[in-house]
Amino acid sequence: MTLEFTLASARAALRRRTISARELTQAHLDAVAALEPHIHAFITVTPDMALAQADAADAALARGKAGPLAGLPVAIKDVFCTKGVKTTAASRILEPFVPPYESTVTANMLRDGAVFLGKLNLDEFAMGSATTNSAFGATINPWQRADSNTPLVPGGSSGGSAAAVASGMALAATGTDTGGSIRQPASYCGIVGIKPTYGRCSRYGVVAFASSLDQPGPFARTVEDAAILLGSMAGHDPKDSTSANRAVPDFAAATQRGVKGLKIGVPREYRVDGMPPEIEALWRQGLDWLRAEGAEIVDVSLPHTKYGLATYYIVAPAEASSNLARYDGVRYGLRVPANDLKDLYEETRAAGFGAEVRRRILIGTYVLSAGYYDAFYLKAQKVRALILKDFTDAFGQVDALLTPTTPSAAFAIGENEDDPVKMYLNDIFTVPASIAGIPGMSVPAGLDAQGLPLGLQVLGRHFDEETIFAVGAALERAAGFTARPRIRMGEGA
Ligand code: GLN
Repeated sequence: MTLEFTLASARAALRRRTISARELTQAHLDAVAALEPHIHAFITVTPDMALAQADAADAALARGKAGPLAGLPVAIKDVFCTKGVKTTAASRILEPFVPPYESTVTANMLRDGAVFLGKLNLDEFAMGSATTNSAFGATINPWQRADSNTPLVPGGSSGGSAAAVASGMALAATGTDTGGSIRQPASYCGIVGIKPTYGRCSRYGVVAFASSLDQPGPFARTVEDAAILLGSMAGHDPKDSTSANRAVPDFAAATQRGVKGLKIGVPREYRVDGMPPEIEALWRQGLDWLRAEGAEIVDVSLPHTKYGLATYYIVAPAEASSNLARYDGVRYGLRVPANDLKDLYEETRAAGFGAEVRRRILIGTYVLSAGYYDAFYLKAQKVRALILKDFTDAFGQVDALLTPTTPSAAFAIGENEDDPVKMYLNDIFTVPASIAGIPGMSVPAGLDAQGLPLGLQVLGRHFDEETIFAVGAALERAAGFTARPRIRMGEGA
């Protein structure tokens, strides 16, 4: 029954009192109990807290004083600090960490009355594209190929968020996107995900990966729901010096705008070799849908796109190596006792970090080292400026860009694991927007021949999420994507 609701329809039902927040929450907790053994989207489930929040929402609804998210059961990527609830970033090094404070994004959602079902699985420290790098085991995509029950990845790093929403365990969820971690899992799981403009949502209380790229955003089953949740998550926060002091627009209203008269750009550099013809075809279809709704389609060029991945995989590890220096076994998190301070650091970090995190720390330390700083880090920063300029130039001609979200549908667990570079290629279409700090959304637009969902990506100008919501909603209406996963009832991967 949980899949029949959206945030919007559940909110209407709660206001009409045709369902109570407690009933709605219990239904989602029942869905978690039934599906979680097969999907493993959660690291921590918080049923008692959820039911207490639901009761508080019911009381507020009865008084007619309910906030915009009152009584709506959602779940939180386990990188957002939640007061009194373990926050692991899917890492052994943070396994024992119970934050004494609340992240701004989750505090905003609690202010608006949300019900938190628990904390969702991810790649360790949000580093990955498959949620196979979690210290607590992989999340399995609720979708499977038509002709096999091979477990597929949900994408990453916010794989738990995407899987929970796609399977109906939560109405919506938070994620974070550093190079694609909201858009790519949304695409693989057939739901909507938006990475807002860098600075739109506060990073305060979000476990840091790469601070100049990290950005929280929502996952939901409809564009309108994503707009509702983003409206609650976003807003200026003096506790994050990069948070933008801008009013939060009515994103949900923007979904009704239509695309008549908008200019939509098609970046020619996003036609990459080896892209499946189905994805090419869906991209063309998306453009046709927008044209039919009155948009004008314009070819544009983003000439530095080809350096996007290389730039990202220098800048992100560099920042990560610096951010992750704080996990030293002294202040909080895991501590492996040792004879002296150096051994304490070494043994704690060796035991606490997984292979991909260690790889990124090594790459990051290397590109920042005295001998290589100019050749790699400084060069990457210069290319970053060129990539941003590409987008600025393109947005001089068009209002939004349309591209595929990913170069493939969800792949099998274990695939791409032996070759980190192959894994990094998943991010080819999502990374440039992260580097430029512009907003991007993935909208489910169709199924491939195997019955797996494929997403289209809409990119927009800095702080113009409203146009993205307008375009995303038009694509959603045209695609009429109503497919739901046939959930694989197996024991783990
Ligand atoms: N897949 C990319 C990476 O591994 C992006 C991750 C993210 O956006 N957090 O870094």
